[in-house]
Amino acid sequence: MEGIRCHKCGEIAEPARVKFNTYEIDGWRCKCGEEFCDPEQSQRILLFNKLKNKSFSTEIGQIKDHLIVTIPKDAAEVLQIEAGKKVSLKIHDLHHMTVAL
Ligand SMILES: [Zn+2]
Repeated sequence: MEGIRCHKCGEIAEPARVKFNTYEIDGWRCKCGEEFCDPEQSQRILLFNKLKNKSFSTEIGQIKDHLIVTIPKDAAEVLQIEAGKKVSLKIHDLHHMTVAL
């Protein structure tokens, strides 16, 4: 990652890990103390905060002998998953199952 120009003092802010909410993400820190967050990573955290602990209603479909669960686009985006990703399923009881990435 390259440095960016600080809008506060005009110096070059160097790449650094910076705080965004309670997370540490890529960004830039200037000698004057100003910090800049990577826009893509900060957007992902904002989306995550919006979706965290939210329940999704989805439907079980079927392809040949396999059942499939569709994952809403926002959830897939924040989890950075796409078709073909390997995941593991864990059955907790007769009503609950988790998907681990
Ligand atoms: Zn600065």
